[in-house]
Amino acid sequence: MATAQSYVTPLGAVSAFIGHDHGLFIDGDWRAAASPERINVFDPATGEPITTVANASADDVDQAVRAAHRAFESGVWTAIAPAERERLLLRFADLVEANAEELAQIETLNQGKSINISRFVDVGGAPAYMRYVAGLTTKITGETFDVSIGAIPGARFTASTRREPIGVVGAIAPWNFPMMIGLWKIMPALAAGCTVVLKPSEVTPLTSLRLASLAKEAGLPAGVLNVITGDGKAGKALVDHPLVAKITFTGSTATGKAIARSASDRLLRTSLELGGKNPAIFLADAPIEQAVQGAILGGFFNNGQVCAASSRLYVARAIYDPFVKALAEAVDGMTMGPGLDTAAQINPVVSAQHRAKILEHVTRARQDGAEIVAGGESPERAGFYVRPTVVVGAASHLAISRQEVFGPLVTVAPFDDEDEAIRLANDTEMGLTASLWTNDLKKTMDLVPRIKAGTVWVNCHNLIDPNMPFGGYKESGIGRDFGIHSLDGYSEVKSVCIAH
Ligand code: NAD
Repeated sequence: MATAQSYVTPLGAVSAFIGHDHGLFIDGDWRAAASPERINVFDPATGEPITTVANASADDVDQAVRAAHRAFESGVWTAIAPAERERLLLRFADLVEANAEELAQIETLNQGKSINISRFVDVGGAPAYMRYVAGLTTKITGETFDVSIGAIPGARFTASTRREPIGVVGAIAPWNFPMMIGLWKIMPALAAGCTVVLKPSEVTPLTSLRLASLAKEAGLPAGVLNVITGDGKAGKALVDHPLVAKITFTGSTATGKAIARSASDRLLRTSLELGGKNPAIFLADAPIEQAVQGAILGGFFNNGQVCAASSRLYVARAIYDPFVKALAEAVDGMTMGPGLDTAAQINPVVSAQHRAKILEHVTRARQDGAEIVAGGESPERAGFYVRPTVVVGAASHLAISRQEVFGPLVTVAPFDDEDEAIRLANDTEMGLTASLWTNDLKKTMDLVPRIKAGTVWVNCHNLIDPNMPFGGYKESGIGRDFGIHSLDGYSEVKSVCIAH
């Protein structure tokens, strides 16, 4: 139950922002959308609409892309000194930091997540990430090559490469970490010298609109960053626009595949950060208390609405029964409440549709013969709540073991030896993350290379860093966010060969 001490009262600036009539941010200014269609934006904690945003039409998308293209071609961003781009991006980071509490509250009111997560992860982590990427602006380099070209006897050649910004980038983001992932898309593109059209999820568009104003205040020239709101049709119009040179997308595997199909027609560059059905393997030496805490953090952080979430738990048979008992008890004891209640451990999921999808997974799991040992239902209260759920006895071919639920739900299954654990962990079309829980160094070194996932954590889960590449094997995506190479996907390599 929220108490006066634990409940955060929204700032006046937050209410004013939410009550504002939101347009589209195109060419450095706000304008009304050509499309009259509006999208309702909800507070998941009450289930009530709090505002509306424009549902951009193909014409609106065209306006935004043309503005970005004009800005790109004018050189207002591409041709300025890298140190100047870096300075402006650092200023942008400073403004995100200065407005952190407002951004965190908007994120929680729109996404439903705990204000603790908004404060310390989504918004709290943003300035460090932004500054890391801004710093790469001044580290873009090419190479020089010794060549042995013999075509013109006696001629000498000097060959080198330049990295050139790719052009207009269409950035499409999901609803689970709206501002944070939006920044993962736009920052490397801007640092590389590209101009951007960002389309946040229609479910959680608000913080991206606030970011647009902060980018303008930071001094980014008109047209360099454009933010449009709209649904999947607007996303598709962005993908299909001939002046877009690259799509950077984070979202579901199904949408990622649809984008890849559209992109193939004109060989559009894409990077795709997609879904996960991520395993956590608990070996017999893992202390139960630590293992259960790890399973809760990995599986229920942000109500399981995390691409990296450990949603399949494989537990050595020697500790399986006490693990399941302790996990079910801990999960049943989690407090539930609105994201603005700092004491609530489980918050609403993002939408009524998403809650229905999660509950359908539970119903089907039951029909398929799996057992629900904790949760498995929606409490009788306003808002989009689902009780945290633990499922056992689900064979690995069942939908609940294979499809991404993206909610507060984990499956738990035993294994008899490490070969079986690896086989179960890798028995998936996805490959985003995994974790291994053991203090046995030899087994760790043996097992980590055998897990097919873009990130493997040992004795931790869900920890990311701007300097650590993040992305998927298999159907979890193509490309990597983060790390010193994160600008590469936003540039073309040009070879220059000079005869002299
Ligand atoms: P989604 O695929 O439904 O939507 C993502 C975005 O794509 C939204 O902005 C949406 O409007 C847009 N879109 C929808 N159809 C489109 C189309 N045909 N063309 C272009 N754009 C289109 O995903 P979601 O439900 O918003 O997000 C949850 C998913 O995102 C989960 O699968 C999760 O695993 C994944 N995710 C992945 C990562 C990662 O880094 N790998 C991070 C976060 C979330």
